[in-house]
Amino acid sequence: MGFRFNLNADGIYTMNILRKKIDSMSSSYDGPIVEWSKIIPLKVRCFVWRVALRRVSVATKLVQRGNNVQSNLCTLCGVESETVDHLFVTCKVVEDTRDYILKWCGITSERFSNMEDYLDFGASWGNCPKKKLILISVFYCMIWYIWMTRNNKAFNKELEVGGAKLKGEALNPGFSVLLPPLGGINSLS
Ligand SMILES: [Zn+2]
Repeated sequence: MGFRFNLNADGIYTMNILRKKIDSMSSSYDGPIVEWSKIIPLKVRCFVWRVALRRVSVATKLVQRGNNVQSNLCTLCGVESETVDHLFVTCKVVEDTRDYILKWCGITSERFSNMEDYLDFGASWGNCPKKKLILISVFYCMIWYIWMTRNNKAFNKELEVGGAKLKGEALNPGFSVLLPPLGGINSLS
């Protein structure tokens, strides 16, 4: 299929335009809107987009493809099947970490059943666009660090992968610059 590039008003072909183009070409895509703000690192935005499309090699997918993996169980909790929705949304380790971070942001914790619920919650939260973007950034960076932590466990055989490790990763200096000062996300004016 041909692919014609159109320039935006500044004569620059931006990732945002490319993403919208690909979304429009993918008629089967009915997933959540992925935020494309530059406040979120590009690698993180691209990864969340792949997660929303479920194009991530979680254990259940690898088993379906016939890859040589030992188990389809979740790398983090070792209890349930590792699907995209489980690994990034409903895993107990992830829920504990999300509760901890949302509490730190001053936001009442929520339970989500799948990736659509989770991303839509961020996309429709609150009335202030600035605060909402920060919350979305927090969610996206959590998704990124969950994947990093999962891969460290899967490939480097790291033993310490519980909630404490994930919280430590999610709140490291590179991530915390996205977060509001102590006092919570609602302290922003
Ligand atoms: Zn799990």
